[in-house]
Amino acid sequence: MEQSVEPAVVRMSRFAMACNFEVLLWGRQRDYLEAAAQQALEDVRVLEGQLSAYQLLSEVDQINAAAASRPVRVSPQVFGLLEQAIRISTETGGAFDITVGPLVRCWGFYQRSGRVPSAQEMETARAVVGYQHLRLHHKSMSVSFDAEGVEINLGAVGKGYAVDRIVEYLVSLGIPGALVDAGRSSSYALGTQPAGEAWRLGVEHPLDPDRRVAVLSVSNVGVSNSGPTQQFFEADGVVYGHIIDPRTGWPAQGILSAVAIAPTAAESDALSTAFAVMGVEATRAYCEAHSGVRALLVPRPQAGDRVAPVAVGLNEQELEWMVL
Ligand code: AMP
Ligand code: MG
Repeated sequence: MEQSVEPAVVRMSRFAMACNFEVLLWGRQRDYLEAAAQQALEDVRVLEGQLSAYQLLSEVDQINAAAASRPVRVSPQVFGLLEQAIRISTETGGAFDITVGPLVRCWGFYQRSGRVPSAQEMETARAVVGYQHLRLHHKSMSVSFDAEGVEINLGAVGKGYAVDRIVEYLVSLGIPGALVDAGRSSSYALGTQPAGEAWRLGVEHPLDPDRRVAVLSVSNVGVSNSGPTQQFFEADGVVYGHIIDPRTGWPAQGILSAVAIAPTAAESDALSTAFAVMGVEATRAYCEAHSGVRALLVPRPQAGDRVAPVAVGLNEQELEWMVL
């Protein structure tokens, strides 16, 4: 008689890229799954050594140190990620921009002590912000800046990229299902849960982490969440969040939380940041023009009003609203 074997489920996590990476995977052999999860998480450390703007001699650090004076050669992975970042900048009309660092700094967010900058500080920063300052040289696989003071930071896309690399590795091992998450802000749902259902991901209420506004049922997509409530300060009754509109230099205002669903976690990561800047109508236009991309946005309510989330492109099977 044939015996049905319960699949093994393994969950493992590790701190990297300033957040907790977690892998939940299932399959037939526990030992095999544990070794896979361990290796996948170790590889994130290697990626961090390439992508971090804060690690001395990382590829990004080397770019920032020298690309204003000469083209800096980079690995194929970093080159590909830069190409993807620039493509998303173009497609979002500059709402997503990996050169936004000088503005993030002048609003005090790198120092974690927010303040409203002077008009002069903001002008100085704006002069060196803009993905148009980046030059990618395909033949030599190198990158240069067209001005002194330009810098790149992959903070809004790197975690999603790392999640994709983990997923790629798990797929290469034949793992049938996994949920890979970075810092509860970017994840990828590979395959299904052991019993064949889609993975279920809760969407947090941006003003009350104990509640959810919705649950998404998804499979083989990246899901990311961005919003000013993750880091902000208040001055003269106005709340300023860490997501900056690179085109105006000011923190994005209208959206409390933006969830993006996309074919990869790098895309969903970059797009959730962009959607928090773009607001509902521009996000809707983006999703209509890009198949496979959908969103859930929570606009900032008027004082006294309840939050009223907006779904863009999500169907009934994927989206279940929670009673608010
Ligand atoms: P995320 O949590 O993925 O939305 O990334 C937010 C972080 O990316 C911020 O803390 C900033 O360091 C940086 N950032 C802020 N605004 C933007 C933007 N418009 N495009 C790209 N990166 C940004
Ligand atoms: Mg992001």
